[in-house]
Amino acid sequence: MIRIDRQKCVGCGGCVDLCPQAAIGFFEDFAIIHKGLCFECRTCVKVCPMKAPQEI
Ligand code: SF4
Ligand code: SF4
Repeated sequence: MIRIDRQKCVGCGGCVDLCPQAAIGFFEDFAIIHKGLCFECRTCVKVCPMKAPQEI
């Protein structure tokens, strides 16, 4: 499962635009992943400059 570490996310939105599943939204200025939509392609893990999305 991929999860976004709120301590690292700066809310740039880069992962939101690139997620092929449109599985990432925003909550209180941090990106969150809708688990039901994410198919773990790891695009967000690769593109995030802060290394906020992590495999758990
Ligand atoms: S790319 Fe990284 S820092 Fe930017 S919104 Fe996504 S998780 Fe947050
Ligand atoms: S792993 Fe892929 S499908 Fe899941 S949130 Fe990240 S970019 Fe979207």
